[in-house]
Amino acid sequence: MSYIEDTICALATPPGMGAIGVIRLSGPKAIEIANSIYKSPKAGKSLLDAKGQTLHFGSIVDGDQLVDEVLLSLFRAPHSYTGEDVIEINIHGSTFIQRRMMELLIKKGARPARAGEFTMRAFGNGKMDLSQAEAVGDLIASESEAAHQVAMHQMRGGVREEVSKLRQELIDFASMIELELDFGEEDVEFADRDRLHELLDAVQKTVVRLIGSFTLGNAIVEGIPVAIVGAPNAGKSTLLNALLQEERAIVSDIAGTTRDTVEDEIHLGGLTFRFIDTAGLREATDEIERIGIERSYAKIEQAKVVLYLFDSNDIDTTEELNRIDAIKAKAGNKPVVVIANKTDKLSETDVIDSLPVDVRLSAKEKSGIEELEELLLETVDMKGLNANDTVITNARHYEALLRTQEDVDRIRTGLNTGLSGDLVAFDIRQALAHLGEITGEITTDDLLGNIFANFCIGK
Ligand code: GDP
Repeated sequence: MSYIEDTICALATPPGMGAIGVIRLSGPKAIEIANSIYKSPKAGKSLLDAKGQTLHFGSIVDGDQLVDEVLLSLFRAPHSYTGEDVIEINIHGSTFIQRRMMELLIKKGARPARAGEFTMRAFGNGKMDLSQAEAVGDLIASESEAAHQVAMHQMRGGVREEVSKLRQELIDFASMIELELDFGEEDVEFADRDRLHELLDAVQKTVVRLIGSFTLGNAIVEGIPVAIVGAPNAGKSTLLNALLQEERAIVSDIAGTTRDTVEDEIHLGGLTFRFIDTAGLREATDEIERIGIERSYAKIEQAKVVLYLFDSNDIDTTEELNRIDAIKAKAGNKPVVVIANKTDKLSETDVIDSLPVDVRLSAKEKSGIEELEELLLETVDMKGLNANDTVITNARHYEALLRTQEDVDRIRTGLNTGLSGDLVAFDIRQALAHLGEITGEITTDDLLGNIFANFCIGK
C-alpha cells in the first residue's frame, strides 16, 4: 500500500498543558528520524541498533539546542500497534515542547498524521479487523462502565469472532448446496435437507441474536433517554434536581477529581441515563395546552423509559387512573415508572393505595430517590449480559446484519421453494459479502475514510 511509505507523527495525548505528553511516530523512517534528534547520556549509543520493545532515556536536541529530556519507547515492525516501526516519545507536557517536537519531526521528514491514521495502518497491516479498529474509537469515547466493557470486548475481537463463526456456518451451508449442484443433474439423493435447515437455523439464530443486542448496545453507548412527565407542579423539576444533585455529590466525593458533570445525566449501575427536558402534562383545554401535551408526548417518543409523577396530595383517583393509563398507552412497550410525589405532606395514604404506584417519594426531602434509581436501573434489561457477550453497538454493523438477515430469509425461501442451487449460492455469497463489511474484508476507500475521519488525531 502506497501510504505506508510515509512516516507519520502526531501528539497522541490531548493538546495543552499536562505532566506528560506523548508524541507518536510510525513508518519506515520512524527510528531513523527519532535517532536524528535523540542524544543518549551514553556516548555513542544509537537507536538504529536498538532492539524492539525497548525504553530509552535521553535528550531531544535540535542541533545544539536542548529541547527536552524524554523517555522514548521503540517498537520494531511488525510488533507494534500499527505493525510498522513505531517510536513513542514521552515529553514534558508543555504546549511549547509539543509544538517544538512536532516541528522538529516534520523538519526531519515525518508528516503530520491524519485523524485515525495510526489505527488505519494497524487495520491495513492486518493487526486488527475493522470492527476492532472501530472499537478503539468507541473505547476512547466510552463514558460509562458498560460502554467501556462492550468496547473492550469488541476491541479484543468479540464481534470479529461472532462474524467469522457466522461466515463459517454459511460456508458449511454453501458446501452442502454445492454438493447438490455437482450431482443435481444425476438426480441423486445428495444433501440432507434436514441438515441444510439445521445449518440455516443456526445462522439465523446468531444473526437474530446480534441484531437484537443492538437495542441494548445503542442504549449503552448513547445513554438511556428518560422522560419525566406529569402535570404542572407535580414536582418534575424538583425530582430532576434531586437525581442530579445526588450524582454531583457522588462525583465530587471522588477526591481530587475535577470532572465536569454533564448537566442532565446520571450514572447508575455502569449505565448513563439522560433526562429529556419535559413540559407539564394536563388535559388539553385550549390550543396552548394542547401544544404542551404534544411536547410531552414527543418527549415520551424520544425516551426509552418514562417517569410519570403526580402530586399525591392533590388527586382525584379516577382522573389519575385515566392519566396513568393514557401515559402507558402512549408509552407502548416502553417501561413507565409511576411515582407518587410529595409524600412528606401526605397524611392519608388511602388515595394512592388504590393506584398502580411503583414508588412513593418526596422529591423535596430527597426521600425515596434511591428506590427510584433502583427501579430505573431495572427497566434496562441487562440480564444475562456478561463481560464476554457480544453486543452490537455500531450502527454500521447493525445495518450490515439487517442486510445479512434479508439474505438469509431469501436463502430459506429459495430452499423451501426448490430454487436452483446456483441461485441459492448467489444469496449465500451476498450474505458473506454483507458480513465481510463488518470485519472490513470487503470495504471501499470511502467507507474507510469515513470511519477513520471520526477518530482523533494521534489515534
Ligand atoms: P414541576 O412543575 O412539575 O416541574 O414542579 P416543580 O418541581 O417546580 O414543583 C412544584 C412545587 O412543588 C414547588 O413549589 C416544589 O417545591 C414543590 N414540591 C416538589 N416536590 C415536592 C415534595 O416532594 N414535597 C413537597 N412538599 N413539595 C414539593
